[in-house]
Amino acid sequence: MIEFDSAIKMIINSVSVLPAENVAVSDVVGRILAQDIVSPVNVSGFRNSAMDGFAIRAELLENCSESSPITLPVVDVVYAGASTQDKVAEDNSNQALKIMTGAAVPNRYDTVVKVEDVTFTEESVTFIRPAKNGANVRPAGEDLSVGETVFRAGHRFTALEPGMLASMGLATVSLHRRPRVSVFTTGDELVAPGTELQFGQIYNSNRYTIAALIQTFCERIEHSAPVGDTEHALRGALDSDNNSDIDMLITSGGVSAGDKDLVPPVSSELGWEEMFHKIAMKPGKPVFFAKRGAQLLLGLPGNPLSTAVTCATLVIPALKKMCGYRDYLPKPVAATLKSNSRSGKRMLLWPGKIRREGSEFVAEYSTKKSSASLTALLNSDGLIIERKRKDKTAVTNTVDVLFWDDLLR
Ligand code: AMP
Ligand code: MG
Repeated sequence: MIEFDSAIKMIINSVSVLPAENVAVSDVVGRILAQDIVSPVNVSGFRNSAMDGFAIRAELLENCSESSPITLPVVDVVYAGASTQDKVAEDNSNQALKIMTGAAVPNRYDTVVKVEDVTFTEESVTFIRPAKNGANVRPAGEDLSVGETVFRAGHRFTALEPGMLASMGLATVSLHRRPRVSVFTTGDELVAPGTELQFGQIYNSNRYTIAALIQTFCERIEHSAPVGDTEHALRGALDSDNNSDIDMLITSGGVSAGDKDLVPPVSSELGWEEMFHKIAMKPGKPVFFAKRGAQLLLGLPGNPLSTAVTCATLVIPALKKMCGYRDYLPKPVAATLKSNSRSGKRMLLWPGKIRREGSEFVAEYSTKKSSASLTALLNSDGLIIERKRKDKTAVTNTVDVLFWDDLLR
């Protein structure tokens, strides 16, 4: 049995960041950039109007006021997307150009007066006050200059950013590939939700727990029907021929001390190299970890709370590293434990409520104490960590907590 900290280190050291691939800008949210992005263009690429109005030279309106308005002929109208280059040749510098938001402002005009501030007909426009030189004209490169580094390698895209990529003219960007994962739930007792249970059967909840926890970090998740508790059935699941392009296999159940806990012996027979079996943690002690080439096998315990906790704290960090995350390790935060200590011989990672009180966090365990209890997760904010007790008298009320918000995204 190894300590939790050694277990997570071994898992992390066994995985590599996956190579880069080109991904359409529409699919980048949540994924990790493999190389810096430098803007290939100015955004916008040309001087343009910020308002619907009239382009003029500001000096023409210097002496303009309500009592002595100035009227200028309107030379033309330009819309966004139209080329105004051909108009520039004419000597229209003492005239006004009707212009719409986003249309290029020809060089000879320096200012746009918005339509709300003038009166106009098709032929002429009347101004009643001076205009500030440069008003309502957006310079080229106002938002971004060519050559500017906009995103660094390792950046994780949010929903606010695909528009920025598109505005630079990029159709694809280079992101790390995400892992392909196969999930095998094992157990003769498992039945899919939606069907009727016979006596002794239970619904297969781990399939859904695992899939929901990991989906953000996976390119693809394959599920088989529950694998029966026979060597033959498990061999089929863990055999390399059936998993050729899979990066990680996750099993649930079949790793503890029962007669039918066959994942460790069958995997070793199939060429998987055992890295460790059993971690001094609670819940989750029976975790089994093996490697075969670059493929990983994470054997999670079947008890539903154990499955959730080990998946969140051991599997997700590995998946995050493969995805290219720079911060893939869970980040413990200090808190004060308001419940009675539950520390024992193994490191405890138990769900609880965590709230802020002034400048500190205060944590309280979920009332349920069984590794089979999924209700312990309901309304929990994260996991409360109590290191194993070395000395019975030395119980402190300072603990670490891991927030779901940090673990799961
Ligand atoms: P095992 O690790 O296979 O000995 O399973 C431990 C406990 O977890 C047993 O009570 C199983 O019935 C239960 N269990 C195993 N797999 C699942 C699953 N996929 N969904 C819900 N409970 C499970
Ligand atoms: Mg079982």
